Amino acid sequence: MEKKAQSNQKKTIMANENPNLNNLKITCKYCKKKFVRHTTNQIYCSIKCRGNRYANSPKGKTRISRWRKQHPNKVKEALKKYTHSKKFRKQQHRYKTSKKGLKTANRNWHTRRLRKLDLIEDYSNKEWLEKLAATKGFCPGCGNYVGIAKLTLDHIIPISKAPKSFVYTIDDVQPLCKSCNCSKRDGINEQ
Ligand SMILES: [Zn+2]
Ligand SMILES: [Zn+2]
Repeated sequence: MEKKAQSNQKKTIMANENPNLNNLKITCKYCKKKFVRHTTNQIYCSIKCRGNRYANSPKGKTRISRWRKQHPNKVKEALKKYTHSKKFRKQQHRYKTSKKGLKTANRNWHTRRLRKLDLIEDYSNKEWLEKLAATKGFCPGCGNYVGIAKLTLDHIIPISKAPKSFVYTIDDVQPLCKSCNCSKRDGINEQ
């Protein structure tokens, strides 16, 4: 009983407007940053953090997805507004010109080209990177050391010569240096 009374007392102090509380910095429950609160029961540093916390909770996730299904037009409008905003375009530009963005753009272009020709690539990026690492930077074609970064992806059966709906597995591609890849061009390996 005594303990309960104590906790009650604590609560009333918290709820009261205590000027000392406003000077205390507490950590945000979402981003874990320290902040000064404006009201005594504030636990998130910003509306953004409160919203994110809700959107990431299981309850919030199901409610938001239900709302989105019920209001498809509103979702479309909001998305359009967002993709036409200056902020989004700036972000896109920054990503597209970054190293990572250029890499993904290159890979996307590659897969689109394959899809156009009805060809399928059945290996993950991880598998390819493992294959690259296994060469230790030496080109398997000429045996020269060029470094892993300069090895390019080569299809053993060229894309232009592959039969329709051919499936490229990790064994159907190889890392080659630029000069080997260029000299090979679209002719089938002469070995
Ligand atoms: Zn926060
Ligand atoms: Zn080579």
